[in-house]
Amino acid sequence: MTATSNANGKINLLGLTQPKMEAFFESLGEKRFRAGQVMKWIHHLGVDNFDDMTNVGKALREKLAAVAEIRPPEVVSEDISKDGTRKWVVRVASGSCVETVYIPQNGRGTLCVSSQAGCALDCSFCSTGKQGFNSDLTVAEIIGQVWIANKSFGSIPAKTDRAITNVVMMGMGEPLLNFDNVLDAMLLMMDDLGYGISKRKVTLSTSGVVPMIEKLGELTDVALALSLHAPNNALRNQLVPLNKKYPLEVLLPACNRYMAGLGEKRVLTIEYTMLKDVNDQPEHAEEMIELLRETPCKINLIPFNPFPHSGYERPSNNSIRRFQDMLHKAGYNVTVRTTRGEDIDAACGQLVGQVMDRTRRSERYIALRQLPVDGVPTATQPSNADR
Ligand code: SAH
Ligand code: SF4
Repeated sequence: MTATSNANGKINLLGLTQPKMEAFFESLGEKRFRAGQVMKWIHHLGVDNFDDMTNVGKALREKLAAVAEIRPPEVVSEDISKDGTRKWVVRVASGSCVETVYIPQNGRGTLCVSSQAGCALDCSFCSTGKQGFNSDLTVAEIIGQVWIANKSFGSIPAKTDRAITNVVMMGMGEPLLNFDNVLDAMLLMMDDLGYGISKRKVTLSTSGVVPMIEKLGELTDVALALSLHAPNNALRNQLVPLNKKYPLEVLLPACNRYMAGLGEKRVLTIEYTMLKDVNDQPEHAEEMIELLRETPCKINLIPFNPFPHSGYERPSNNSIRRFQDMLHKAGYNVTVRTTRGEDIDAACGQLVGQVMDRTRRSERYIALRQLPVDGVPTATQPSNADR
């Protein structure tokens, strides 16, 4: 079984980037241009059956069906909120479920995509973190979320009125701990033969896996969001345990280097989940103002979304506004994220998902936590063969 083939031994073409698709057709003794034809069928037109590919001859369609398939993750449920937000729960090969959320706002359509089932990083206010790690999503499972959402709006029309204009890797999981698969999926999001989304509108959000931020900068130029949540190491160590490994004095310079590498006028997004009496006080705002002086950024305050037994509360609107005002007066661009899709539990951090394979999850979780984070984190993940 190769890295891209499914349990039945067939290669899942949904997860192949353009160069990999071309290599696949060459390996069949076919012309490379077939890659573009098939990618358009898959990503633009949402086709998952070779027989529907009318510009591909019958013999080649049969050849393809024998060795390959187009298999998105299974949709367990689809909900549409009265505010237009949509949420899908999809089941991935490990048996776990992850969530994808579509948020239409001000002429934009933002899709929030998951990268892992569960997460090993255990941030204290995150329900995904509370589940522990279950599995890395494959490229097909990541891009499959875009495929499913896109298909629900019909085929990809002219660039101007596309339903999905932005993708944020802010669903379940830490994208930089599933680096290779997330990278290929983002390449497909940006490819014109894929979803044609601009590099400025594909955002990777990380809690701060420093070596992988460096590697990301060598390989791509997507937008970067940092989940900061605290203005000093002592507090951040409590909220984001990964901070003990990569404290602020190494994390912020790594983000600054990434942004400098992009050139142009692109700025880092700082995400700051606001927790009542924990990180929402005026002294925290003052520390933020100092901390971010050298970091060209825009700040997005996320009012905490409660979940059972979290131990945290959402601050009052007044204290959120006071915090925002202080940063704003100091010259920062600060927005407060509005909660959307409340009637369908689509809010940030409520992507609880159902973890079915509990035994293997906890084994892996323990194994991961015992490994040094210094080495390249992907090397510490279970291999494909393990799945
Ligand atoms: N692992 C990545 C991306 C997924 S989390 C990261 O941490 O950046 C996406 C965002 O949702 C993060 O900023 C995270 O801190 C935030 N978040 C998690 N749980 C939340 C909650 N209960 N309420 C509000 N925001 C939450
Ligand atoms: Fe993982 Fe992000 Fe949740 Fe932290 S906030 S546990 S990194 S998904």
